[in-house]
Formats: sequence, structure tokens, C-alpha cells
Amino acid sequence: MLLIDGKKVAADLRQRVKNDVDALVRQHGRAPHLAVILVGEDPASQVYVRYKEKACEEVGIVSRIWRLDGGITQCALEKLLTELSHSDDIDGILLQLPLPRGLDASRCLALVDPKKDVDGFHPENVGRLSIGLPCLKPCTPYGVIKLLEYYGLSPAGKRAVVVGRSNIVGKPMAMLLAAASPFGNATVTICHSRTPDLAAVCREADFIVPAIGKPRLITRDMVKPGAVIVDVGMNRLADGKLCGDVDYEALTDVVSAMTPVPGGVGPMTIATLMSNTIEAYRWRREAPACPVA
Ligand code: NDP
Repeated sequence: MLLIDGKKVAADLRQRVKNDVDALVRQHGRAPHLAVILVGEDPASQVYVRYKEKACEEVGIVSRIWRLDGGITQCALEKLLTELSHSDDIDGILLQLPLPRGLDASRCLALVDPKKDVDGFHPENVGRLSIGLPCLKPCTPYGVIKLLEYYGLSPAGKRAVVVGRSNIVGKPMAMLLAAASPFGNATVTICHSRTPDLAAVCREADFIVPAIGKPRLITRDMVKPGAVIVDVGMNRLADGKLCGDVDYEALTDVVSAMTPVPGGVGPMTIATLMSNTIEAYRWRREAPACPVA
């Protein structure tokens, strides 16, 4: 089995981003600036934001974090997002999700300038992705494609099953795998909690991308010999350990390639955020008249 090593690929991508940042500073005299907005005290979000801050530091992107009280009003949050969208000093904007109850994430995301939308969640970017136009793509699924690319695992002409239909992972993942682009061109099925006989659907797949959030739901009997699995799931077990949506140990002699958890998709998400920030910077500086293209 080929181990798809997300840590290694992410380190390689971060190094390339660092080189790009150095070149942009030489060319334009200024590093890219990423604004990160964290609302409330969600412990997981606080950890993710610290990772993102650290990654920015490592590659030379200037990050500025807004740590806002969970009691902030919708109106005040929208005002901040509008200001950041209009600010010439900010190249990328990331609103850390989930927001505390009472705040409307969709309304907030729609206020982010699509050209600064480094998470690829703005409806304009979602629409552009779905019709095959250049856009900023959601970091986790885009990170999955970069993993496939690195190892030359092309899904073109193959059957791919994405388990999960969330807006941040499952749906954009399916779009990218089905896109008429290198490391797309798969025949894609999206499964979810109402899919009857998930095992039978998965057994048809050459590529399986579980994004479910249920520890070890994908078992040996659900996987065709030789399949490629990229496990997006990240689950904390009672003993504190992390595991994916796939029964990893039981599958090592069945699959042809698989990501571990941790050390698979997770590091790619943050590295892709860094490369999206570079793309956002370039689009605004080098083709300011173009809508995200
Ligand atoms: P959501 O909870 O938003 O979506 C989960 C999806 O799984 C839903 O579409 C749900 O179906 C489906 N599902 C749940 N149970 C089953 C089941 N028994 N059979 C088939 N489908 C099922 O989660 P996210 O998309 O946000 O995240 C998914 C996983 O990926 C989580 O473990 C999360 O922690 C991880 N993640 C990892 C990242 C990384 O960087 N590695 C980044 C983002 C997420 P339905 O729609 O019907 O409810």
C-alpha cells in the first residue's frame, strides 16, 4: 500500500508558498496579508486559528487575528467583514466557522469580497467552481486534489464515491473530482446519511473520500481491492486519540493507497489555505479587474 503522506506534501507546498511570498515581496514590496476572524471561545476553533497563525508565520504571510467576543452582534460582525473586504491592506479573509449560536454564517460569508475569500465559501466562488470557472476553492477538498496530484493518482475515468454532502467538504469535493480538469474527470457519486446500502455503493468505487465524522465507519467489507482512500474524517476517541472515518488498520492490505489520520488531509487544509492566500493576493494585484480570474 502507498501511504499518502499529507505531512510531507503539505511541507512541500508550504515551502513553495514561502518561495512565492519571497518573490512577491521582491516584486511588489509587500507580503500578503490574511485577516482571520475568530468569534467566541470554541476550543477547536481556537486551536485551528493558532495553527493557521503559525503556518502564516512560517511562510511569511502577515496574519492579523480578530478575536471577538461571542456576544458580538450580527450587525457589528457584518460591519467588520465589509470594512476588511474594502481594505486595500487585506488580501485574504477567513471567518472561522462555526459561529456561535445567533450569528448567521451565510449572511457573513456573502459579505466577504469573493477575490479575498480564501476559504472558497462565497456563493460566487461556489458558483464558479460548479460551472468550471477559475475561483478560490475550499481548502480541504482542494488539498485532497493536491494530494492525488502529488502522487500521480489520477481519478480520470474512474468511479469516485464521496461520503458526506456538507458545503465545506462533501459537495465541493464531488465538484472537483467531477471537474473537467487534471485530477478530475471522475464519475462521482455523493452519499449521505439517507443513502441506502452505503457499503454496496462504496464497493463500486476506485476512489473513496469519506467526509462523515464517524470513527471507522468505512470498514473492510465496503472497499474494493486496489481502491484509493483519502480520509477527510477527523474524530476524537474517548482515549483522546484522533482517528478517521476509515478502519485504517483493517484496510492496509486491501487498498492501493490511503491517507493516515492524523497526518493525511489535515495538514493539507492549512497548506492550501496558505496557497489560496497567495492566489488571492495575485488576483488583486496582477489582474484587479478580473472577478477571481
Ligand atoms: P458535516 O457533519 O457537515 O457532514 C457530514 C456528512 O456525513 C453529512 O452529509 C452526513 O449526511 C454524512 N453522514 C453522516 N452519517 C452518515 C452515515 N452513517 N452514512 C453516510 N453519510 C453519513 O461534517 P463536515 O463535512 O464538516 O466534516 C466531515 C468530517 O471531516 C468531520 O470528521 C470533520 O472533522 C472532518 N474535517 C476535516 C478537515 C481536515 O482538515 N482534515 C476539515 C473539515 C472537516 P447528512 O447530510 O444526511 O446529514
